[in-house]
Amino acid sequence: MSSVEQNLVEGNEGYAYLFKQGDLALPPSQKYAVVTCMDARIDPAAAFHIPLGAAHVIRNAGGSVRDAFRSLVISQQLLGTTEVLVVKHTGCGMLIFDDAVAKDLVRKNKGDAAAREVENLDFLTFPDVEDKVRDDVAWLKGKAVEQGIRVTGWVYDVKTGRVKKVV
Ligand SMILES: [Zn+2]
Repeated sequence: MSSVEQNLVEGNEGYAYLFKQGDLALPPSQKYAVVTCMDARIDPAAAFHIPLGAAHVIRNAGGSVRDAFRSLVISQQLLGTTEVLVVKHTGCGMLIFDDAVAKDLVRKNKGDAAAREVENLDFLTFPDVEDKVRDDVAWLKGKAVEQGIRVTGWVYDVKTGRVKKVV
């Protein structure tokens, strides 16, 4: 077992021992979804005050709504959420590379077959966090399937732990 697996098994034992919320409903009780970055410095439940069972938290590199779209449609159409918080953050890794850099890295590290697997991939990088929050919110609001859904955009500061509304 790797040390990561060991951490899971041992940490989970303590968690399960104290766990008392096994009767929560499947649909999120507060009927909203959060789209945020996979950045390891963000603890959405704590930082965004999300009790267990209250909201869907959809995470990916950069907190992209394009990447999260499939999950958002499921969240809304099958599980009844009616509001989306898009939360990007300061110091995001998506600010420091672009598609060409990522594709070159894959070719160098993994070879041509691997490079072909990602040649059509849009890594959805961006040069400015607040601009990208506005762009993501506008993109989502432009979808017919999102009509009637409230969408707002935010930036979380990884240095202070504070969120700021952008749009
Ligand atoms: Zn990020």
